[in-house]
Amino acid sequence: MTARYETHGPVAVITLDNPPVNGLGFATRQAVTDGLQRAGSDAQIRAIVITGAGKAFSGGADIREFGKPAALAEPNLLSVIRACELSDKPVVAALHSVAMGGGLELALGCHYRIAAPGCQVALPEVKLGLLPGAGGTQRLPRAIGVEPALNMILSGDAVKSELLAQIPGQKLFDRLAASADSLLTEALALAQQVADLRPLPLVRHLKCAHPQGDAYFQFARNTASVMARNLPAPVKCVDSVQNATRLPFEEGMLREREMFINLMWTPQSRALRHLFAAERAVAKIPDVPDDTPKRTVASVCIVGAGTMGSGIALNFLNAGLPVTLLETGQPGLDRGVAAIQGYFQAQVGKRKLTAEKMHERLALLKPSLNMADLAHADLVIEAVFEDMAVKEQVFRQLDRVCKPGAILASNTSTLDVDRIAAFTERPRDVIGLHFFSPAQVMKLLEVVRGKQTAKDVLATAMALAKKIRKTAVVSGVCDGFIGNRMIEQYARQAGFLLDEGCTPAQVDRAIEKFGFAMGPFRMGDLAGNDIGWAIRKRRYVEQPGLRYSKTADLLCEAGRFGQKTGAGWYDYAAGRRDAQPSAQVVEMIEKHRASLGLKPRRIDDEEIVQRLVFSLVNEAAHILEEGIAARASDIDMVYVTGYGFPVWRGGPMHYADGVGLFNVVQAMHRFARNPLDDAAFWQPAPSLAQLAAEGKTFNNA
Ligand code: NAD
Repeated sequence: MTARYETHGPVAVITLDNPPVNGLGFATRQAVTDGLQRAGSDAQIRAIVITGAGKAFSGGADIREFGKPAALAEPNLLSVIRACELSDKPVVAALHSVAMGGGLELALGCHYRIAAPGCQVALPEVKLGLLPGAGGTQRLPRAIGVEPALNMILSGDAVKSELLAQIPGQKLFDRLAASADSLLTEALALAQQVADLRPLPLVRHLKCAHPQGDAYFQFARNTASVMARNLPAPVKCVDSVQNATRLPFEEGMLREREMFINLMWTPQSRALRHLFAAERAVAKIPDVPDDTPKRTVASVCIVGAGTMGSGIALNFLNAGLPVTLLETGQPGLDRGVAAIQGYFQAQVGKRKLTAEKMHERLALLKPSLNMADLAHADLVIEAVFEDMAVKEQVFRQLDRVCKPGAILASNTSTLDVDRIAAFTERPRDVIGLHFFSPAQVMKLLEVVRGKQTAKDVLATAMALAKKIRKTAVVSGVCDGFIGNRMIEQYARQAGFLLDEGCTPAQVDRAIEKFGFAMGPFRMGDLAGNDIGWAIRKRRYVEQPGLRYSKTADLLCEAGRFGQKTGAGWYDYAAGRRDAQPSAQVVEMIEKHRASLGLKPRRIDDEEIVQRLVFSLVNEAAHILEEGIAARASDIDMVYVTGYGFPVWRGGPMHYADGVGLFNVVQAMHRFARNPLDDAAFWQPAPSLAQLAAEGKTFNNA
């Protein structure tokens, strides 16, 4: 049963009951219309209340129906809303906790609305590249005014019911209940009070205008198009709300529907909806059920107070957990503590944090030089130098000092977590927690599951990631894990492009135009080109036959490590971060090309983008084959949350699916014929070749 029907004297109560958030799936919609019909034909009933069971009035569309025919099956949401409007007995919506999307649109179709305080009210469709498609753009402006409505529709963010109730002249809520507990009683009282009032009020009959009319909408359209450059939905939201001010209601509704359906088919909305589902899937680990018992983590210790250690500490301080920060010497410790203080002070300066909260958080920090301070920590995260010998020394010490059951984590970017685990007598308690820099900002956390990592350790790490608001993606152990293993191939391709005729600026421009936050060369300058240099030294000793462009080595030999040395692929003026193309680097690349006897070739943006993106995709296919990642959509999450891949393209795997895997493989065969590239690299991964041959995709394979 997805909605309950009860009577309270002369009032029928329809309670949406479709956990977790009373999504308006087919069965729920049908139960509502059945309830309306039953109440309509019962002579004893004089009014109807619609409310929600459990944690919400309604969170809107049922995401389990997304993209399936059931979403549109009659009664669809528009028909349910129409049935409310046409009821000849007054319908009162009683809102609490959450009233979002279709849930709010349903309430707007009722004759009266009463809300509990604290109810989160939103039309979040724009976040999925859509506009509210069941009258939201037509009714909300009529109920609360054009500007507040458009702000809500464009941001998609929730506003509390008590704030909305304060809007002068608003017709969204007829009443605010005293509390969620008294909501039903007050809704029943309201229903009885209005039972005989006629005509029944409808939001569609309210006037809708803006004093500045067209000028206001032009401003709004300009702002929306600048803020959401690659997304069509925000501008359509403006258009549709403007329609509410100048078209008869029914015509505005028809246009809204038309725009909604068109947006549904845009690649941007498909990408955003894919990521919405991917975000929910990523937390599920096939062999670790949700109810796996978790270890208690009430205190954290971080070993190493460098760039990463201090950033990682901030995450836990912000979540209210006590943190011990351990270093080998006073100067290093002072630097780490100063970085943490500096961050909080800047937050206070920007009014993102109160001074009081800053002091509270700093009081949770315990700087230490004494290994014995680790004895009581529930979780230890090691963030010392990226050197196996140093890691070995630290993990042997942790094994001696830490209490039984403590989780021992490493933030290593490239080292073998299984080898690190083997330095202890408790490899089951060891896990990789790979944060990204700056660790207090970046959403991504790769949770590296060692061969022996215990399931409860993994489950605890995932829960903890949620607590510190990270997107956690499980990765198996391999060199570079998911993200860096793929980026290495992307960087190799970027190098070949230089050898063949591109400049760093040309490559960056092409991939940034595609939507990446930053091209590979600007990214290298930011992260430090010496990091890749160190990796290459190791890699090409291990795999001497592997081809790569030597330009990056030449750059490092010239001491051009990036922003930190004021020079990298680009030049940087003192204290500035904006990249200026460097004549010296271009000359260096040309000389190198000439020394290899290569004639530069003009390479267009499309080839640049395809070579970079498909290099990610092919490596990702290997990663899936090896079981390093559980699903293609996890890889998409890694790339949009950690590597600046454009969200509106849905991640590399979703993008490749859209291009068509057949076309991806064709392009790879073409690249393999290029004598300056690496033919072995462009050999499609077996799973990719198979999917392409079968006409399948990664994400729905
Ligand atoms: P860093 O050089 O800034 O900091 C390392 C700190 O560890 C130094 O302050 C050092 O004094 C301290 N240290 C060394 N040995 C120690 C010991 N035995 N006990 C306590 N402290 C000790 O390095 P970082 O950039 O913060 O990197 C740390 C780890 O994080 C590395 O494994 C690195 O691969 C990984 N990582 C770095 C990044 C990044 O972008 N910098 C990103 C992800 C992961």
